[in-house]
Amino acid sequence: MSENAKKHQDVIIIGSGPAGYTAGVYASRAKLSVLIISGTLPGGQLMTTSEVENYPGFPTGIFGPELMMNMRQQAERFGAAIVDDEVIQVDFKKRPFTITTHSETYTADAVIVCTGASPRKIGIAGEQKFGGRGVSYCATCDGPFFRGEDIVVVGGGDTAVEEATFLTKFGKSVRIVHRRDSLRASKIMAEKALVNPKIKFAWNSVVTDITGDKKVAAVTIKDINTGKETKITAGGVFVAIGHEPNTAVFKGHLELDDKGYMVLKDQTRASVEGVFAAGDVHDHRYRQAVTAAGFGCMAAIDVERWLSDQRHSN
Ligand code: NAP
Repeated sequence: MSENAKKHQDVIIIGSGPAGYTAGVYASRAKLSVLIISGTLPGGQLMTTSEVENYPGFPTGIFGPELMMNMRQQAERFGAAIVDDEVIQVDFKKRPFTITTHSETYTADAVIVCTGASPRKIGIAGEQKFGGRGVSYCATCDGPFFRGEDIVVVGGGDTAVEEATFLTKFGKSVRIVHRRDSLRASKIMAEKALVNPKIKFAWNSVVTDITGDKKVAAVTIKDINTGKETKITAGGVFVAIGHEPNTAVFKGHLELDDKGYMVLKDQTRASVEGVFAAGDVHDHRYRQAVTAAGFGCMAAIDVERWLSDQRHSN
């Protein structure tokens, strides 16, 4: 492959979570030339989780990084090229589209955006240290690992309430720590949580420290009105204070909603013809590895059909 040919692709996939790699598998199996630009965390959010028990096909579970490495190798097997670089600029005004990374400029006839979303962090001591060892950002993914534990959930929105309710199936106790004196969550969900005997609340409170040895053992909670700090036993901390879509580089180039998520039309099509999206970058509802992979498949099929239509009409 010549240097020039390498820089021009039928399709460039930006992002390398389950959506990006699945799009890579489908697009390269459709005999399109494919480049995946992996981003700053090749493999995405699953690289920071431990065991994944809910991805179909692995009856005894699989570690997140292993699952992502398998997906990467599967995409490469069918010819997808992968560069571990970050996109810093895009030009979607004219085709072929131009995509610039820290080290290179590429062009492509079609683009699939799979940059995902990142859970918002509290930003306190212990949060990063115990990531995957008691600190989690996904109850659906990690809840069953916390059987019999005292669990703390941080946040007051629908996610926090939903996760706390889900976690009561596993935990000895669940305590929601929220910085206000009332929940932001929708009324119906909030009312259920408020009467759930397994859920306790720490109102007007924030978590200021997470401590332990090999895994989380305690959490320090501060009352923001009195300033009083209390250390409580906890085997798990679920941070549910929202997600931020990784769309900064697309601002002004693609339509985003008021929270920064990509707005799609007609399944996987973005606001610019020839640009598609898949996964958590547009989906704030399901946010699962398997749904992201499904969206990646859909986007690749849509790209293949769109490119074929374009080429027949020219
Ligand atoms: P959210 O609605 O933005 O709520 C985030 C919560 O975290 C808020 O209570 C916020 O406090 C708190 N928070 C934010 N930053 C914080 C920080 N640094 N420290 C401590 N607390 C912090 O996010 P979400 O709950 O993830 O929901 C996102 C969207 O998905 C919403 O539209 C929600 O309705 C939807 N959703 C729906 C369902 C469902 O219908 N089943 C389930 C989950 C999510 P404040 O209240 O003080 O701002």
